Amino acid sequence: MIMPLDQSERLDHYMARANAAYYATRDPYADFTTAPEISQVVGELLGAWSAVVWQSMGRPPGVILAEAGPGRGTLMIDALRAIGRVAPDFRAALTVHLVETSPALRAIQASRIDAVWHHRVETIPEAPMILLANEFLDALPIRQFIQRGDGHDTWDELYVALGHWREMPTDRVFPIDPEGSLREICEPAQALARHLAARFEKTPGAALFLDYGPAVSGLGHSLQALRHGKPCDPLVDSGTADLTAHVDFAAFAEAAAGLAVHGPIPQGMFLARLGLFQRTAILAGTLQPQAASHMLDGARRLAEPDGMGRLFKAMALCHPALAAPPGFSE
Ligand code: SAH
Repeated sequence: MIMPLDQSERLDHYMARANAAYYATRDPYADFTTAPEISQVVGELLGAWSAVVWQSMGRPPGVILAEAGPGRGTLMIDALRAIGRVAPDFRAALTVHLVETSPALRAIQASRIDAVWHHRVETIPEAPMILLANEFLDALPIRQFIQRGDGHDTWDELYVALGHWREMPTDRVFPIDPEGSLREICEPAQALARHLAARFEKTPGAALFLDYGPAVSGLGHSLQALRHGKPCDPLVDSGTADLTAHVDFAAFAEAAAGLAVHGPIPQGMFLARLGLFQRTAILAGTLQPQAASHMLDGARRLAEPDGMGRLFKAMALCHPALAAPPGFSE
């Protein structure tokens, strides 16, 4: 648990502190599961996706295959296995770089993967790079602003003090919204997009983000806390629940000005185009009936609109000279 501060703390500062404590001390997979943990096919497809992107980059040697927020490392392990099979020359050319802040998760990753670790994407060395990130952006801290002021365009910012919300005046202005409207911004996500734009101007690269959120920026509160798989109050017992917010893909894409933006498209469509069901059927054919039906259920959960297929999106940011990566068009 983290200590509640008695002075007001800006929401993004609070969220950063709470999540750092959470990821450092708890097994997040006790509270939620993720696509690569549901099916090995996710990592395999993203491995094959990376191999195609590497080919479209002109097969550069010394390429970096990076992942931001790799959790237990499952996605990368499945990706590397698939790459070894379908593109051994890419496997031989690449080095793995992982961006992870949690010492506990780093230790798990290090027991499974040979890699170089970073605290931030920004310190990954300059070289051609393919970056993967599943449910990374949603963990980055957000700021929230609420429209106040009786028809005047003034906004308050939300702070946290002793386990309660507090509103403080701000100079920030946004387009005029109805009184009480809430806007969220994720500054670290925007900074990451700007960094990728600057980086890919010098060295070729592509970055693939799978995460949840609406395709168009909206108004409204999306901060959510999960403990043992159940929603809970984000301000209670800070540091013991996973805090996330919807990814604002439109704002993220806008911050990546200069890059080719592919998507966002629904995750279900993206994975199905990459061959989720074909690969799952092949694997299921090698399994006992119960394991086979579990595997098929997993694939459906990832792709179906009522499962993770619609709210979750896929978006790629690429060097503009690269061919459109697989999965983003028919
Ligand atoms: N991609 C994994 C894990 C998702 S959970 C999966 O799909 O299973 C979020 C991951 O991002 C965790 O590994 C967490 O420790 C990491 N993380 C959260 N905030 C981070 C930050 N600011 N910088 C780097 N890693 C972060």
